[in-house]
Amino acid sequence: MLSKTLQDAINEQIKHEIQSAYLYLAMAQHCESVNLPGFAHWLAMQWKEELDHAMKFMGYVNARGGRVLLGAIEKPQAEYASPLAVFKQVLAHEQKVTALINKLYALAVKENDYAAQVELQWFVKEQVEEEKNATVIIEQLKMIGDSGTPLVMLDRQLGSRGK
Ligand code: MG
Repeated sequence: MLSKTLQDAINEQIKHEIQSAYLYLAMAQHCESVNLPGFAHWLAMQWKEELDHAMKFMGYVNARGGRVLLGAIEKPQAEYASPLAVFKQVLAHEQKVTALINKLYALAVKENDYAAQVELQWFVKEQVEEEKNATVIIEQLKMIGDSGTPLVMLDRQLGSRGK
């Protein structure tokens, strides 16, 4: 069984994952509005992925005999100055999530909850991937600058994201 402390902390993290999903959904809609459907597709895939993270945590709390309680989420930012601004925000957000996952892991260590540590290792690895993906897109957007053709090409590439 999960300790109350860890259960509360995971419930808080579930809220953060759903908040992340909501943020990426808003970003996807922003990209749709500026005719970058590939960027929108990539961000919509990210929306689903964040919901999967929330579901994974929920499944874990239930498997350990805990109780999932959902908190309130905030209205996400709707407008961005550029695709680069969007992805800088994605990276900053993921860095924040990484810090939260690390804090959760530290709590599982403090609570001597080995099962939770094993579960959280998946998320620790996932955050490495999340930060890398955002960084690559940021760096490519910097290379592109204001050039239209490469931006359209990157939009097509991001539009082919499968999962
Ligand atoms: Mg996540």
